[in-house]
Amino acid sequence: MTISPRITDFADGISAIDTEYVRPMMDASHLIVNGGRAAFVDTGTGHSVPLLMAALEAKGLQPNDVHYVLVTHVHLDHAGGAGQLMAALPQAMAVLHPRAAPHMADPSRLVKGSIAVYGEDLFASLYGEIRPIPEDRIRIVQDGDRLELAGRTLEFLHTEGHARHHYCIVDHGSGAIFSGDTFGLSYRDLDTEQGEFIFPSTTPVDFDPAAAVSSVERLMERNPEAIYLTHYSRVTDLRRLANDLEQDIRAYADLARGVSGIEDPVSALEQGLRDYMYQRMDRHGCNPDSAWREKIIGDDIRLNAMGLKVWLARQSRR
Ligand SMILES: [Zn+2]
Repeated sequence: MTISPRITDFADGISAIDTEYVRPMMDASHLIVNGGRAAFVDTGTGHSVPLLMAALEAKGLQPNDVHYVLVTHVHLDHAGGAGQLMAALPQAMAVLHPRAAPHMADPSRLVKGSIAVYGEDLFASLYGEIRPIPEDRIRIVQDGDRLELAGRTLEFLHTEGHARHHYCIVDHGSGAIFSGDTFGLSYRDLDTEQGEFIFPSTTPVDFDPAAAVSSVERLMERNPEAIYLTHYSRVTDLRRLANDLEQDIRAYADLARGVSGIEDPVSALEQGLRDYMYQRMDRHGCNPDSAWREKIIGDDIRLNAMGLKVWLARQSRR
């Protein structure tokens, strides 16, 4: 069987590769190519690695040309394939946040936590085999650190809010930022005549609304040309999107505070988030069909509700 990855090419040697996680155009890995050298930004799951290797070949590159595997954060839809990918790329260094590195050197806790949520079978079908990365192939980056890819500067910013083990990458070669999940989610399915549609990812277990807003502002201070999200790839109407995101983050936190103390906060939150999101989608002119909307954002609503519940519980322990 030949593997044909879904590749979207942008300017400045940047491409999005669909990791085919859950559905098409849901989860992207990005490839940066500069002066014959390459870096992957996020890897998808264990199942995505053959797609990434096929994309590399389609670009006329060899495994040895890849110098970096950059993992924005260690949620398994972005980092699950990192160990397998590293094994296929003999010259690459895995570049990790200090809080992410221990989990990639020994992914057993990540795997255990995820199996607790999904069960063994669903875990295997979603994420595949999670391999550790040998410690001597891990490079830890602090906030503000820079690396060069054939003379192209990549700068790392630690950005909390979505996850405490998250960094974003400022690409000085293109003027763009690779934001992982820090700049929210913007599926291309939700683009309309009004442009791109965005909303926050408040998944368990680290979501922090104040930090999430500061991180969005920190990215915007860099005046990026474009932002590349994992879900899904390039967005450019950044002022408006940053405003929408900040409003949403505050509204989500208010929704969470509103259900504090009730019996079943997660289902109340799901309902509240669904109502809020559907109103926003109506205003944005998105397809009104509720089965279609459920397919596109249903999983995110459930994960976001769970993450908000975890945040609420943390608040009440303070
Ligand atoms: Zn994430």
